[in-house]
Amino acid sequence: MSSAAGIERKQLLAQLREPIVWDVVVIGGGATGLGIALDAAARGFRTALIEARDFASGTSSRSTKLIHGGVRYLAQGNVKLVREALSERALLLSNAPGLVRPLKFVVPCYRPLEREFMRVGLGIYDALAGKRGVGDTHWLSRSETIAQLPGVKTDGLMGGVAYWDAQFDDARLAIALMRTAVRIGAVAINYVEVDRLELTGGRVSATVARDTQTGERLELHAKVVFNATGVWADDLRRLADSSAAALTTISRGSHIVLSGSFLPGTTGMMIPRTLDGRVLFAIPWHSRLMLGTTDIAVNRASWEPDASEVEIEFILDTARSYLQSPPCTGDVLATFAGLRPLFSPRAAQATKAISREHAIVIEHQNLVTVVGGKWTTYRKMALDALAQAAAIGLLHERPCTTAEMKLDVDPSVEAACRAAEAAALAELDEGERQVAAFAGFAARHEQAMRAEDVVARRLRVASLDRAAAARLKPIVEAALLAP
Ligand SMILES: Cc1cc2nc3c(=O)[nH]c(=O)nc-3n(C[C@H](O)[C@H](O)[C@H](O)COP(=O)(O)OP(=O)(O)OC[C@H]3O[C@@H](n4cnc5c(N)ncnc54)[C@H](O)[C@@H]3O)c2cc1C
Repeated sequence: MSSAAGIERKQLLAQLREPIVWDVVVIGGGATGLGIALDAAARGFRTALIEARDFASGTSSRSTKLIHGGVRYLAQGNVKLVREALSERALLLSNAPGLVRPLKFVVPCYRPLEREFMRVGLGIYDALAGKRGVGDTHWLSRSETIAQLPGVKTDGLMGGVAYWDAQFDDARLAIALMRTAVRIGAVAINYVEVDRLELTGGRVSATVARDTQTGERLELHAKVVFNATGVWADDLRRLADSSAAALTTISRGSHIVLSGSFLPGTTGMMIPRTLDGRVLFAIPWHSRLMLGTTDIAVNRASWEPDASEVEIEFILDTARSYLQSPPCTGDVLATFAGLRPLFSPRAAQATKAISREHAIVIEHQNLVTVVGGKWTTYRKMALDALAQAAAIGLLHERPCTTAEMKLDVDPSVEAACRAAEAAALAELDEGERQVAAFAGFAARHEQAMRAEDVVARRLRVASLDRAAAARLKPIVEAALLAP
């Protein structure tokens, strides 16, 4: 595995204790915060990022794993958002090739004219990508559709439409962002929670945090503080102003994971319209089949959201109309759910109608909240956030350099990760040894602190097979304690 330098928590903490004024403090280590920290550090700003739990432990490890323009946003007529995301897709395919890869989708069609309609819509999607397209949208006959999607329901199948998007490993991309940011000079640390914002003269003069491993208190001073706490953004804002009105609404999206045998192969299936009018994806994921998502409004952010029985049944029910072998509850190997932070000045709107575009809100002179958006556009969100901070004089104008920046993705590490995961899921003898070895590596190089960090995010076992994750946890715990 990698010969790159490890990351020492002791050193990161020592840097955080230095009595300096940081240019940038970022609160939150998901896609949004890591993107901002990387961009800021790349522009030469002294940058610290503080994450309360583990990197990507919030929404950023619970996505549908698509780097995409968003077919559903096209249906909403949001061409600008789609075009921008397709451009970011091309950059990510080039800058993180070991973690982001093209993925072919097929839409199976069962009604007259459905194929023609889908062909036009997906043709526009493709055209919006222009030269940055991944592959052509094209018709498929009935037999071609069955060949591309072995496992698709054949009764009444008339044909299909194939189009291209990209798939990624969200939690591992977050680690790549963290590692890249640290390599170029940022301090990015997990298990440090911000619990106080001090205001002096109406601006945030100190960000006060607690190392949840030791209880040590840390006080950081910065020219600008970015609030990138996703669905906790309003809680964070209320540390500065307890009466701040909500900027976000929250919705939950759930996924289920089945054996890959339900839809063998490497092509994803897109179901354009579920009974509640949504898009549902069935995607090959680490040799399994992942299906999602739902969209359920929820009142509060929670650290461990999970799919409800109703959502699981809804996804299964939809899948039964499209899969030759109908899955049932007993076939569900794992579920996972993420919370969408949706910027919404009008909280009463139906959540699926609210655009996923991000919002940047500046309060108390130097507290910049960045919320909404999607994984695909994390880089663009960072660019916008830093531009806004510069526009009001919080930071000097400096050029953004992330468009061409290769992220730290080591093919040998990713291969070891996949091998350990596959061996463990197949319950091979060497599986536990490989997982223990990877846990040790992740502790030294990727800031894995707890067993959950390894089974859920450095490896993806927890979202692929809950029983396997429970079996591996004690092995990982022992490996993390080993000197
Ligand atoms: C179900 C679902 C599927 C999705 N699928 C896709 C997809 O396929 N493709 C795509 O592009 N996008 C997708 N998205 C959107 C994407 O996942 C999110 O936009 C993105 O992950 C949000 O990242 P974030 O950093 O803003 O939030 P988060 O990832 O939630 O990060 C916020 C972080 O802040 C930390 N934090 C909170 N409070 C504090 C504090 N006081 N101190 C320090 N840290 C704190 C949290 O621990 C957390 O890690 C999906 C979203 C959902 C919900």
